[in-house]
Amino acid sequence: MATRLPGVVTADTAARVRGLVKDFGERRVLHGIDLDIRPGEFVALLGRSGSGKSTLLRALAGLDKATEGELTVPGEVAVAFQEPRLVPWKRVAANITLGLRQPNPKQAAADALAEVGLTERADAWPLTLSGGEAQRASLARALVREPDLLLLDEPFSALDALTRITIHNLVLELWGKHQPGVLLVTHDVDEALLLADRALVLADGRIARELRIELPRPRRRDHPEFLALRANLLAELGVTPEGTA
Ligand code: ADP
Ligand code: MG
Repeated sequence: MATRLPGVVTADTAARVRGLVKDFGERRVLHGIDLDIRPGEFVALLGRSGSGKSTLLRALAGLDKATEGELTVPGEVAVAFQEPRLVPWKRVAANITLGLRQPNPKQAAADALAEVGLTERADAWPLTLSGGEAQRASLARALVREPDLLLLDEPFSALDALTRITIHNLVLELWGKHQPGVLLVTHDVDEALLLADRALVLADGRIARELRIELPRPRRRDHPEFLALRANLLAELGVTPEGTA
C-alpha cells in the first residue's frame, strides 16, 4: 500500500520504503526492499541491467503500484529519465512547465532554464536540441517542480563523456542550491562515487550492499579512497578488474 501526502513535508524523511515487493506476473523482481532517503541526501542506486532499479524508482515516483509493502514519500516528487521525454510539438520553455499549476509559468520556465544554462534555447523545438541540452531541459522540468525528492533514472548514460562531466557538475550545483533528496539510478560506479553520499547495490531483488561515500566534493577519481570504494563496488557488481584473474 502506498501512502502519498503531496505537499506535506516532514523534516525527517524524503522517502521511506518498507518491505517493498514487486511482481510482474509470476515473476518477483523486488523481494522486500527497505530504503530511507533523508531530506537533502544524495543516494545512488547501482545494479546490473534487469536488477530492478527502474522498477524501484517507478514505485517511488508513484508510476507503478507495489505488490506489497509501504512507500512514504511525503513531499513533492520529480523524475528525469534516460530519454529526456520532451513533447516535440511544444517549444522548450512550454515543455518545462507542461502540466504544472503555477501562477506565472513563463517566468518559472525562464528561471529554470537560466539555472541549467539553456536560456538561449527557450524558444527552440525539442528535436533541435543536442543530447546534453535535452537533458538540461529535462532537469529544468524536474527542478521547476521544486521537488523534495528528485528521482533520476540513468539520465546521463546516453551522453558523451565530456558532456557528462559538465552535467555532473551542474547536478551537484543544483543539488547544493535546492537540497532535494536524490535517488540516482546508474550502472556507472564512477558516477555514483563522484556524486552521491551513499551508494546502494541492488541484486536479486534486494539491497545487497550499502556504502557511505564520505569524500569531500569536488571528488577526484585518483583519490586512494575513491579507488578503494570503486574496487569494492565493482566486486559487488561482479566485475573483475582488468589484469587480474
Ligand atoms: P533495471 O532498471 O535494473 O535494468 P528494471 O527495473 O527495468 O531493471 O527491470 C527489472 C526486471 O523486471 C526485468 O527483468 C524486466 O524485464 C522486468 N520488468 C520491468 N518492467 C516490466 C513490466 N512492465 N512488465 C513485465 N516485466 C517487467
Ligand atoms: Mg532501468
